[in-house]
Amino acid sequence: MAPPSEPIETVVFDGRALANQVRGELAEQIEELVKAGKRPPCLAVVLVGDDPASRSYIKGKQRACSRIGMEAVEHLLPASTPQAELLELIGRMNADDGIDGILVQLPLPDHIDPTTVAEAIDPAKDADALHPVTAGRLLAGRYDIASCTPLGIMACLDHHGIELEGRDAVVIGRSQIVGKPISLMLQLRNATVTMCHSRTRDLAAVCRRADVLVVAAGRPRMVGADWIKPGAAVIDVGVSEVDGKLLGDVDFEAVQGIAGLITPSRRGIGPMTITMLLRNTLHAYRARCAG
Ligand code: NAP
Repeated sequence: MAPPSEPIETVVFDGRALANQVRGELAEQIEELVKAGKRPPCLAVVLVGDDPASRSYIKGKQRACSRIGMEAVEHLLPASTPQAELLELIGRMNADDGIDGILVQLPLPDHIDPTTVAEAIDPAKDADALHPVTAGRLLAGRYDIASCTPLGIMACLDHHGIELEGRDAVVIGRSQIVGKPISLMLQLRNATVTMCHSRTRDLAAVCRRADVLVVAAGRPRMVGADWIKPGAAVIDVGVSEVDGKLLGDVDFEAVQGIAGLITPSRRGIGPMTITMLLRNTLHAYRARCAG
């Protein structure tokens, strides 16, 4: 591929700064609710087992809640917890008027079916957007509550004023939490979306057509400079640990001067994902409590 004729200054997305800005706005909204005599929204977080990474993720989520004045309750269950017991707990939380959002941290131990668990959560409290009803609403064009990472990606694109209407968007990955919902969101904004996966032929050629490229494959540095259309917005969702280093799916250094926008693997889309979990919980609260 010929190099771009004009040098391009690649903008690096600052996910932490945008996350702080959005969290500040959420905190203001919660403060107003509390000033008006209402209770703050509450997110319930459930962890089954003692996986250290999952434990650190839920601690981060709880910290994020408390920083914006949102309540968080934690349920730490042993790895041996029977599925029926977890479903019973979810049933109690569904019926608890003081809980607005429910998140069950994945992955779950092998004896627990994640789909059954997702379907047990009341869709009105589905802060992590894993229930099929939530996915169906997005299919119908409504995303008051939706998958957190795709919401974070849309916020990033909007923050940088990336035009979507009529543009070619390519999404690598077709997972339920990233690839499928972001494809729908981009299409709802009138982009022409191509969804790619492990059987896509000549992936590099497909990507070179993309004005917006979203990569969520979990394959470190699979996307190199020669896959990028000059000036494209490149959203790197992938996070892989290689030799103790966190790597994205895009070769961050190589796309400098070619991409118009790139999200780094650290402080990129990650902080936005947690922020959108908070946003979903506040939406769920308002919908249930008409706040
Ligand atoms: P996933 O369930 O792991 O699925 C990966 C997807 O990528 C699949 O659809 C797979 O295709 C496709 N794929 C894998 N290798 C490919 C290749 N060589 N060429 C083309 N497509 C390929 O996906 P995920 O849960 O969405 O996670 C993807 C990555 O994003 C992971 O690194 C994950 O850690 C990261 N992630 C980050 C955040 C964040 O907040 N930063 C949030 C979520 C996920 P098939 O369907 O054909 O197998």
